[in-house]
Amino acid sequence: MISVEANPTRDIDNPFLSLEYEPALENLGGDYYDIVEAARFPQQILRFRNDELLPQMGLDPQAVSDRHFIEAFGKFAGRRSFLALRYHGYQFGDYNPYLGDGRGFLYGQIRATDGQLYDLGTKGSGTTPYSRGADGRLTLKGGVREVLAAEALHRLGVRTSRCLSLVETGEQLWRGDEPSPTRSSVMVRWSRSHIRFGTYERLHYLRRFDLIKKLLDAVIEWYYPHVKDTEDPYAAFYEELVRKTAELAAQWMAAGFCHAVLNTDNMSIVAESFDYGPYAFIPTYDLNYTAAYFDYFRRYAYGNQPGICRMNLGLLQEPLQLLIDRTDMEASLSRYDEYYWQQYRDLMLAKMGLVHRPASEANELLKLTLKTLEETQIGYHDFFIRVRSQFSPAWRDSETQILTDIEPFAAWEPWRLLYHRILQSLSNSELEEMGDRLAANNPKTVLLRPEIEAVWQAIDLDDDWEPFADLVRRIRAF
Ligand code: AMP
Ligand code: MG
Repeated sequence: MISVEANPTRDIDNPFLSLEYEPALENLGGDYYDIVEAARFPQQILRFRNDELLPQMGLDPQAVSDRHFIEAFGKFAGRRSFLALRYHGYQFGDYNPYLGDGRGFLYGQIRATDGQLYDLGTKGSGTTPYSRGADGRLTLKGGVREVLAAEALHRLGVRTSRCLSLVETGEQLWRGDEPSPTRSSVMVRWSRSHIRFGTYERLHYLRRFDLIKKLLDAVIEWYYPHVKDTEDPYAAFYEELVRKTAELAAQWMAAGFCHAVLNTDNMSIVAESFDYGPYAFIPTYDLNYTAAYFDYFRRYAYGNQPGICRMNLGLLQEPLQLLIDRTDMEASLSRYDEYYWQQYRDLMLAKMGLVHRPASEANELLKLTLKTLEETQIGYHDFFIRVRSQFSPAWRDSETQILTDIEPFAAWEPWRLLYHRILQSLSNSELEEMGDRLAANNPKTVLLRPEIEAVWQAIDLDDDWEPFADLVRRIRAF
């Protein structure tokens, strides 16, 4: 059992320890996790605290000190015995039965002010039975990168986990993909759920159909309570997961985001984006863009993401097949593309300031925009930021006013004519709303790799955290 240490006088005022933790997963029983302890670190320096999340947790940011963060999420004082969750997964196509939380655990679950259940999960908190000889740690650079990805995706409207805290822990780590030794950290993640497709795959592998049913009932209770009123709640759950996963893939594509490691252990059962390793935002519209240096066959390339997610949903039918009719699941999966395109089109239209356009017109604009982005290889984000920054109601008067400085000018002429034709069909009030919509959907700060590297250089060379703090501020701005 997770327990509060007896008489923790120095923690008694810590708001994180007074939260009402709900042992939802813990109460399901020990078949789903191992009880683990957090590592003790030589040092704890708070490098990031996400005050935006505290009100959702029912906490007043003013009442939460840095010391509270460090005690709770750097020293892990006041609570102990955490849950390393068990899961397997298909990694780059191959089934791996040796996975599980190898460097993290479920710290606790709480009901947020929106009435929903949320997880506090760690990354870099020490070894577990699933560490497979590795150190159970997170590099500071990895932590910094995940904080930034989550904040940027959240700003872009992607359903994502967020980082609640990042604490530097004073150890030296050795990694093949970073100059080593490199600095260490522990992160706490705020997410709807850490239950993965791979959580079910493991139970199927073990032939524990009783545990699959128990888990699915719980998942429906916690995250999909509305499907209980339907004729076949299990089938309705799968249908909704298909739709939400398709929408998530569309959100990544519109955001120009390449997750990079879409193994089934990184696919959430609530279709929330999480676990950001070697991710990248695309510099230009290039469907082959691949973010992970070890992804030799471009399996998880930017443009493959919708198809990979669909395939992962197909794989999930294996563990669910005793509970849900396979034909029903196939029928749901056959609607994946429709859900995907609907969402992708709406999001791309919104990036161009538009909403509720006739389908044929929307399709034509989408096709032409993507074609021109691909042919010109202009910066993907830069293009939309230009539309946002230069837009003026005068664009409706003449197409010659639209993106006058874009290069090569002629290549954008067909797009300019079509966009102008659409603007001409808008009423004055619709035209006025465009400015706000363009700003909401196209943040001016883009998290391209050089930007992240510059922030990391300042930390690495001068221990200067101001560029990082500044980047977080700019990411959040409108
Ligand atoms: P990821 O690629 O971060 O999703 O991790 C895949 C698997 O490897 C998960 O089971 C992780 O817990 C595990 N893992 C990754 N890095 C480490 C590490 N440094 N120590 C222990 N386990 C790790
Ligand atoms: Mg993972």
